[in-house]
Amino acid sequence: MSSIFTRIVDREIPADIVFENERVIAFKDIAPQAPVHLLVVPKTELYANVAELAAGDPVLLAEVVAVAQQLASEHADGEFRLIFNSGPSAGQTVFHVHAHVL
Ligand code: 5GP
Repeated sequence: MSSIFTRIVDREIPADIVFENERVIAFKDIAPQAPVHLLVVPKTELYANVAELAAGDPVLLAEVVAVAQQLASEHADGEFRLIFNSGPSAGQTVFHVHAHVL
């Protein structure tokens, strides 16, 4: 079963997509916690959380951060919070690594 974010990548479920390239997609969070609340998501669902991504593909993690910076400049003043909930007790609900940009 694909993750909900893979289903967004595959256009099986709709999302308000704000950025996409070969390796990364970004879209508006369905339940925003701030005036700007975007999710930046590696397209691969190989990594469940940011620690796995950092160990497995640090260049891809750096791409996620760069996309977050670009989107913060486009959607706000370029300053941003970057949150990776990691594990259920930290509030993670989707186990396909993603950064919250607020
Ligand atoms: P987590 O709690 O895992 O850190 O973050 C998951 C985030 O994904 C939540 O903020 C939630 O609102 C968002 N989310 C869950 N399902 C969907 C969806 O189908 N579409 C969009 N755009 N966001 C979703």
